[in-house]
Amino acid sequence: MVKGTLGAMVLSGSTFTALAGTQNRKLGIALVGLGGYSTYQLAPALQQTKYCYLTGIVTGTPAKEKTWARKYGIDAKSIYNYQNFDEIANNPAIDIVYVVLPNSMHAEFCVRAAKAGKHVICEKPMAMNVAECDEIIKACNEAGVKLGMGYRLHSEPYTQELKRIVAGKELGDVSFVSAEAGYYSGGSPNQWRLNKALSGGGALVNMGVYAIQSAIYGSGQNPVSVSAQEFSTRPEYFKDTDESISAQFEFPSGATGSIYTSHNANVNRHYSAFKRGWVELNPANSYGPLRGRKSDGSVIEFPHESQQKLQMDDFARHILEGTPNLAPGEMGKRDMIIVEAIYRSIRESGKRIPLQLGQMGL
Ligand code: NAD
Repeated sequence: MVKGTLGAMVLSGSTFTALAGTQNRKLGIALVGLGGYSTYQLAPALQQTKYCYLTGIVTGTPAKEKTWARKYGIDAKSIYNYQNFDEIANNPAIDIVYVVLPNSMHAEFCVRAAKAGKHVICEKPMAMNVAECDEIIKACNEAGVKLGMGYRLHSEPYTQELKRIVAGKELGDVSFVSAEAGYYSGGSPNQWRLNKALSGGGALVNMGVYAIQSAIYGSGQNPVSVSAQEFSTRPEYFKDTDESISAQFEFPSGATGSIYTSHNANVNRHYSAFKRGWVELNPANSYGPLRGRKSDGSVIEFPHESQQKLQMDDFARHILEGTPNLAPGEMGKRDMIIVEAIYRSIRESGKRIPLQLGQMGL
């Protein structure tokens, strides 16, 4: 591998080139898994990014190698399959590996990417359980590589504005937060999202992660307890995974929160109630443009940009310039701790489950 050193840092090829002050300040990204999200969101966004670009692909489908190589001008040396993936360690053109596979494959490929010396972006949910999250974090720490979650909303301006209002207490303290994230699933009942062995769960691990995230950044705090209930109206379709879940949070300030997630309802909303008013985002978690309004009648409005472009550029800048990691691995692990607590509460008939998260992921 072409490497350069700068002080105590060991840098891969393109990072070194970037810091050496040449015109190439872009990091190379390899997408692992070329399904819907890579095809329709990430690859197009990587045509717009300023600090990173698409240099490699990892796919189990040989036909995609040709189409992607042609469409995006990908060098044959930067095309891998799941078997020879570890050879990516010898490819200086690839700085970041972005794992966009079914959830059951996240831990394996994040760990292999870290062991290959590549920075890692992991799609949500981080993994199948907290133990797997720990494995990913440990592998990245041991390899000295950066780890970011594919939590695109942290780079998105409406969400950033909400966080700013909460942190600055512009409308006073938050007293209640409500978050809904879900969609009506009517596709093949055989899709991996409805297969627990591949997904780890249903609506909660898919869209529910957005509702959990939203309750946390919309209150500025981690919950200290959760109680949850599950509802099933189409059990013949949702044979293996949860359809709809409600959960209630208590926060350390005394604020409370309510989330709802579903694979049976199109819900996409955030509401923070403060001492002196409220803020609503609706939609709150789709690809945008989002919309926002406040209790004083004003609207929150920003020009639309690809959220994925902003997210990948933020992560590349974190590597290149040391800017904050907006969605670190600890945040993904924290959310998985909450997911596990929600499932436990459901198993125990809605029992209040205490959480000891402290400042984790905030
Ligand atoms: P998808 O079903 O469209 O694609 C999955 C890809 O994985 C396909 O290319 C498929 O060939 C490959 N694959 C490898 N082994 C497989 C197996 N055993 N079963 C099924 N597919 C297999 O899924 P997607 O929508 O691209 O989701 C991929 C990941 O991205 C998931 O973790 C998902 O949660 C996440 N995602 C995140 C967002 C977001 O907004 N951040 C949006 C969509 C998906």
